Amino acid sequence: MFQAFLIKYGEIGVKGKNRYVFENALISRIKEVLADAEGMFRIIREQGRIYVEAEGAFDYDETVAALKRVFGVVSICPVVLLEDQGFEALSEAVLSYVKEVYGDRSMTFKVLTRRVNKEFPMESMEVSAELGGRILDHFPNMSVDVHHPEVILHIELRHNIGIYSEVIPGPGGMPLGTNGRSMLLLSGGIDSPVAGYMVAKRGVYIDAVYFHAPPYTSERAKQKVVDLAKLVSRYTGPIRLHVINFTDIQMYIYEKCPHDELTIIMRRYMMRIAQKLAEDTGCLALVTGESIGQVASQTVQSLAATNDVCAMPVFRPLIAFDKEDIVTIAKKIDTYETSILPYEDCCTTFVAKHPVTKPKVEAIRRSELLLEEKIGEMMEQAFATEEIVEIGK
Ligand code: ATP
Ligand code: MG
Repeated sequence: MFQAFLIKYGEIGVKGKNRYVFENALISRIKEVLADAEGMFRIIREQGRIYVEAEGAFDYDETVAALKRVFGVVSICPVVLLEDQGFEALSEAVLSYVKEVYGDRSMTFKVLTRRVNKEFPMESMEVSAELGGRILDHFPNMSVDVHHPEVILHIELRHNIGIYSEVIPGPGGMPLGTNGRSMLLLSGGIDSPVAGYMVAKRGVYIDAVYFHAPPYTSERAKQKVVDLAKLVSRYTGPIRLHVINFTDIQMYIYEKCPHDELTIIMRRYMMRIAQKLAEDTGCLALVTGESIGQVASQTVQSLAATNDVCAMPVFRPLIAFDKEDIVTIAKKIDTYETSILPYEDCCTTFVAKHPVTKPKVEAIRRSELLLEEKIGEMMEQAFATEEIVEIGK
């Protein structure tokens, strides 16, 4: 019965001129996700409201699922839109709406009317009271509860009329593109896809970098990262994935530096490379899936030693999350099953038996001097041989 959806979005920070930036970004993302859903849609913007209206047949579930992936959407309300043909016609429509959606369910309800069109000849309170009375007359199992109703039947009186009562939660957040672009360090693990999702949810476009170390990491491991990027891009929009060949740098560190410092030094080179890529591609920050204490390279001392090489902001949205909470989000966004596939990671291949857990920045910097001879050249080579995979375009 529904041909349209009322899209509600957060009002905070979207006053005045910002509102248009926010709404435009939201609308263009809605168009993007609906392009993949079955059906043709029209998007109508009207005084603080956005309606998505299907033109002809469409797949309801697929459409709702797509809208649930649009950041900035607070709720999705399936709505019946009518032309304004006076109160009697509205009343007919409301009764058939209630019958269709609730049948003879026993429930409490109230009617809530918003009269935007001041030409409508009745006041909103009057409309609510009159409709409430007629519903009671027709549906003996229903009763009114104005304080804690199970169902709120919304009537919107505009140049046309909207009737809705179902409210499907959206993801919240800010529309993509309202907060610049960042570079996500994307591994094949559970955490980094979630980190990318969370930052994108604040309106940030995401590009990604993956450090690949053939033959220590296989094509399958790389494919897993590509698959994860695809899953994440359902929410974040297209992702440009930079695949950086990290083998030579990793081997060189292994050859020259103390083995217990290997992971930290490797991570510092990942950050340096990611930062250079970010600068070259208009990204203003880095994003990682690090979380305090999760592994030796994520103690506060290790994080500080890693961060020592970063001049741009590094967003670590999972920093204070427990693994369990990260897993919950990974499951919700559908990356979990892919993340747990058992392919090797470039960090595990060379990992020391007893890595330092409290690295001193000074000591790490000194160890890196041992790399002076060839590391510059190797970094150049890594950039020169990068492979770019366009995801979700
Ligand atoms: P994840 O589950 O995201 O792999 P993790 O718990 O395995 O994280 P680490 O392997 O220490 O932790 O990595 C910490 C962060 O560094 C990752 O979340 C990711 O952002 C980044 N990272 C690690 N390995 C790679 C890689 N091969 N390519 C790109 N980024 C990486
Ligand atoms: Mg990992």
